[in-house]
Amino acid sequence: MSVGYSTISTQVGVRKSSRAASNEVQRAQFGLFAVLVLVAVLVALITTRLALAPVGEALITQRRFIESISHELRTSLAVLKTQNEVAKLDSTIQEAIGDTLDQNITEIDHINEILNNLLLFNRVGTFDTITFETVDLRAVMQAVLTRLQRLAERRGVSLRLEDAEIPPVYGNATGLEQLFFNLIKNGVTYSLRDGSVTVACTSITEHEVAIRISDTGIGIASEELPHIFKLFYRTDSVQEITSGTGLGLALVYEIIKLHSGKIHVESTIGVGSRFTVTLPRQPAAATPATPVHQPGVTYDFSASRPRS
Ligand code: ADP
Repeated sequence: MSVGYSTISTQVGVRKSSRAASNEVQRAQFGLFAVLVLVAVLVALITTRLALAPVGEALITQRRFIESISHELRTSLAVLKTQNEVAKLDSTIQEAIGDTLDQNITEIDHINEILNNLLLFNRVGTFDTITFETVDLRAVMQAVLTRLQRLAERRGVSLRLEDAEIPPVYGNATGLEQLFFNLIKNGVTYSLRDGSVTVACTSITEHEVAIRISDTGIGIASEELPHIFKLFYRTDSVQEITSGTGLGLALVYEIIKLHSGKIHVESTIGVGSRFTVTLPRQPAAATPATPVHQPGVTYDFSASRPRS
């Protein structure tokens, strides 16, 4: 009986130890599998990093190249502009030469604007290093209108900033100046003689400010509206009117996104266009209002604002 018992207990012991052994094997297999997965992930990561390293380096080199060339060009342009302005001070010069000097200055300003857009565009993707602060929006508008006054006069277009309150916003002053410069300049460029461009603050809430830029220009066809913020896009109708880069609105889009703002555009061919920009007043705004459906095209980045 005792022999039988010991036989059974030996059998149970053998079964237990074989289960323990199979558990061990299972654990070892699992461990091996986990190590294999880890190694595979690591290899994939290292390979991707190695493969992308030249692309990353090429991008950095390209950014530095654009940055340094743009700065060099801007320095030379500043010298050229000063020389033209000084030459214009001479009261004895002929009218025709004065006009030529004026045209030179306008062209230099135009190249400067392209370089400004290029420089800012070059920083897309590194925008997290850009500082945000309270910005006096009215001062920004006034600076932009002063920069565009000469072009507006030459094109016979009146420029007006409505005399209403414009509260400060939370943003990057350089970015905002370029944003409004591009929008207002387009208003002037795509207006006919005797046209007008009006800048007005149309809404102020606790959290947001809306600024509208209206022009009496050539307008944009409704089927073109969804494309105008794409890089290098120019509508067919403007190709022969004036030269351009198609950089301006693409940069406007990026700056709006950076500010978690909104842009709405509506336009009628032969009547004009209205661009409405909405910007936050504080770093962390409350939940944005439900969007109201309006004709035209809207890009709304306000949902990406950090919440307090
Ligand atoms: P650019 O003015 O250099 O061509 P933008 O990116 O600023 O480039 O504008 C893209 C296109 O959108 C313009 O070429 C033009 O066709 C159209 N557009 C922009 N603003 C206006 C406007 N206010 N009125 C009419 N068309 C406009």
